[in-house]
Amino acid sequence: MKHIPAAALICIFLLGCATTGIHDGGRIEQHEISVVPGMAPIPGPEPLPGPPSTAQEPDVIAALPGLPGPAPGAAPGPEPRLPDLPEAAPETAAITPREAPVIEAGRRFVYLTFDDGPSPNTGRILDILSRNNIKGTFFVVGDHILDNEFMEYEDSVAAVRRVHAEGHYIGLHSMTHLMRHLYQVPGAHSNFYDEMRELQNLISEITGGFTSSLYRAPYGTRGMFTRDHIRTMAASDLRAWDWNVDPEDWKLRTVDAILEKIESDMNGRRYPDRVVILLHERNISVQALPSVIEYFRNLNYTFLPYSPASHFPMNLLYNPDL
Ligand SMILES: [Zn+2]
Repeated sequence: MKHIPAAALICIFLLGCATTGIHDGGRIEQHEISVVPGMAPIPGPEPLPGPPSTAQEPDVIAALPGLPGPAPGAAPGPEPRLPDLPEAAPETAAITPREAPVIEAGRRFVYLTFDDGPSPNTGRILDILSRNNIKGTFFVVGDHILDNEFMEYEDSVAAVRRVHAEGHYIGLHSMTHLMRHLYQVPGAHSNFYDEMRELQNLISEITGGFTSSLYRAPYGTRGMFTRDHIRTMAASDLRAWDWNVDPEDWKLRTVDAILEKIESDMNGRRYPDRVVILLHERNISVQALPSVIEYFRNLNYTFLPYSPASHFPMNLLYNPDL
C-alpha cells in the first residue's frame, strides 16, 4: 500500500509549518515548532547539565495542550517544484570559536545527524562524508522512501541502501512525520510506536536485515511526548535521540548564519564532550556541510556514527530511560 503523500499537505496546514522541508521548496516538513501559531517559541536546547523541566506535568509533557490543530480553512500553498541542486560549497571563512577550550584529539565527539531523507540530496551528503572519511547518522522517513515526490521509489531505496553500505547508521524518524497522528490524537503514543516499528521493518527489508534501534521523534521529544509516549518508548527496545546543537538549517538561509548558530550553541554549552548536531537534507545544509566539518575538525572533535553498543541519552526531556 502506498502511503499518503499527505504528510506534505498536513504540514502546510500546520503552517509555516512546524515542519522542515527536505527541499528548499519547503514541501515536506519542518522540525522546530517555534513557529506554530499561538504557541510560545520553543528555545533551542538548554545547556546539557540542566534540570528536567517537565517532570511535574500530570499527563502531558510541556505545552501540548497549546498546540493548535490544522487551521481550518487554511489552504495549502502551491506545490513547490524541486529546487535546483546545490552548487559546490562556496568558500566560507571558518567561524572562529570564542573561548573554545583546547580540546585534546580523541576526547570529544560529534555525531552528524541528517533528518528527513531520503532525498535528492542524500547522495551529495554521502559524497561529502566519504571525501572526509566521516560516518554519520541518517534519520529517514518511511513515506520519503515509499512515496517521495521528488524521487523514484527505486532511487529512494538505492539511497537508503547506500547509506547503509557506506557504514552510516540509519535511524527511525517515523513513517508519516505527522504531528497530529504521532502526538495529538487519542492513542497517539501507539501510533508513534507502531510507525517506528513499521519503519524498522521497512529498513530491514531494504537493507537486507539491518535492524535499527534508534529513533528521532519528529519535532523532538520535548513539547511532543506525553507520559504515555514516555512510558511506551522507555519500555521498548528502541532508544531516542534528540540533539544538543541545532544549526536551524531548516530555517537559516546562509552558510554563515548556520555556522554562527552552531558556534552560539557550542559556546553556550561550553563545548560539550558529546555533540549531536541536527542537520537536514536541504540544499543549504549540503552547502554548509564542508564548513561544519571543518569547524568541528578545528576544535579537534572526533566524528562518529551512532552506535547502539555505546548509547547515551540525548533527549530534550533529560530522561535517562529514553
Ligand atoms: Zn523531521
